[in-house]
Amino acid sequence: MKRFVCAVLICLMLAGCAPAPTAQGTVFAMDTVMELQIWGEDSALAYDRLLATLAEQESLWSVKKEGSVLYQLNSGDPQYVPSPEHASLLNRVEALAERTGGAFDPKLGAVSGLWNFSASDPVVPDPEAVAAALEKAQWDLGGAVKGWTGQQCVQVLQALRIDRAILNLGGNIQTYGEKPDGKPWQIGIQNPDGGDSIGILSVEGTMAVVTSGDYQRYFEENGVKYHHILDPETGCPVQTELRSVTVICRDGLTADVLSTALFVMGVEKAARFWRDSDDFEAVFILTGGQILATEGTVLSGCEYGVIQREK
Ligand code: AMP
Ligand code: MG
Repeated sequence: MKRFVCAVLICLMLAGCAPAPTAQGTVFAMDTVMELQIWGEDSALAYDRLLATLAEQESLWSVKKEGSVLYQLNSGDPQYVPSPEHASLLNRVEALAERTGGAFDPKLGAVSGLWNFSASDPVVPDPEAVAAALEKAQWDLGGAVKGWTGQQCVQVLQALRIDRAILNLGGNIQTYGEKPDGKPWQIGIQNPDGGDSIGILSVEGTMAVVTSGDYQRYFEENGVKYHHILDPETGCPVQTELRSVTVICRDGLTADVLSTALFVMGVEKAARFWRDSDDFEAVFILTGGQILATEGTVLSGCEYGVIQREK
């Protein structure tokens, strides 16, 4: 039997006993559930502007919405040239993809379209069709756009001089400012098997905390589970020892691209990649339930191994 599950709350936002947000709400955007919590004088206005930002970014970067940047690029209209602003995001994504050595591939759109994980009844595509789709360079920024949108939301909050906020954009957490009680933000990392969070991350100030996991979007066919993170070499769900990767980074776009890419790399390659980088920390949950975290991570509530900078 086929089924489709979209785990919407990948990370839990733990407010503790801090003062309640002055504006908050839950919305459905970018094919997922999002939660916004804001503190500050203009928080009601900020909330409305954040909704507008979510809608705007969705209409720009959706692969399905006619008229979106990606829809037009994928339709191959030679007359279409993205604006300099839009081209600059595309260039940034391509540079990040190159940094990952191709583990993040923003042009897997034809392949992800075949798998169609967001359909109500997805089926395993024909291998020949997958092979043919791999030859087509079609944009899909599903692995990057929520992180980018978090960054755009930060700009909205800054412009309105909002005190602080925490946004859960379908599992991409964006914190903004200091937590009301002056302590670090506490963010739960979801147990891939469901239930309570598996550990609590502490992060300070404005930060993106982005998780990619095999439990977020998947379906089962003939007892086999097919998840939504694809191996760019094969066009099929990547097989590694990982259940999830959480990336903590000041830059939301980088966090989102890297969470997907590190998942594709597998833990050993991902650890080497982290050692060669200086702009993020990461938490890995392995298939046996083991948790590994890079040494700059502040993680509590669980036992975990530390990935050291120097081996
Ligand atoms: P995320 O949840 O951020 O890891 O993103 C997963 C989404 O990114 C998928 O639903 C696809 O739209 C897209 N995707 C899947 N595999 C890749 C990949 N290897 N590189 C870039 N995007 C991918
Ligand atoms: Mg991602």
